[in-house]
Amino acid sequence: MSSDHDHDNELDPMAARVRALETILTQKGLIDPAAIDVIVDTYETKVGPRNGAKVVAKAWSDPSFADWLRRDATAAIASLGFTGRQGEHMRAVFNTPDTHNLVVCTLCSCYPWSVLGLPPVWYKAPPYRSRAVIDPRGVLEEFGLTLPAETKIRVWDSTAELRYLVVPMRPLGSEGLSEEALADLVTRDSMIGTGLAREPA
Ligand code: FE
Repeated sequence: MSSDHDHDNELDPMAARVRALETILTQKGLIDPAAIDVIVDTYETKVGPRNGAKVVAKAWSDPSFADWLRRDATAAIASLGFTGRQGEHMRAVFNTPDTHNLVVCTLCSCYPWSVLGLPPVWYKAPPYRSRAVIDPRGVLEEFGLTLPAETKIRVWDSTAELRYLVVPMRPLGSEGLSEEALADLVTRDSMIGTGLAREPA
């Protein structure tokens, strides 16, 4: 194991204790595992990624913020109040028609919690971690994302020192939308690179 990877892994003592507690509480009928899943899902897919979506929407709306985000993502993101664990050193990578960016942690599960919340299960799973590098185009197709053959895919390997936020391309038809409405188009997966921003309804 590399010492520059500072985060939880499946066998750490805390995870084992949490699992043991959940099992006991469930057996005693004190908790409903489905309710816990809902809470975890909330943090994975709603609360956390909303921060990143605000960052992206601001970058789409404000060229000077986009420029700052490109030059110093850590400071630009902190200016919106999103700091903290696993988000200390950030780099924003911008999708263009020529280049699509995809983020992975090949060694484990480094992830920008402060802007994206908790990592999805697949992000931590060995198949994604190995195949994102070997066959990124194939992985994206499994996510339902088929890019033009001429679009290059750039894969960024996260570490404990540096986490990446993908800034997806602003969708067509989103001209004139408020920053808040734009943020609603920014999905978690679009900020990892396994998806695109939604098109406005
Ligand atoms: Fe990691």
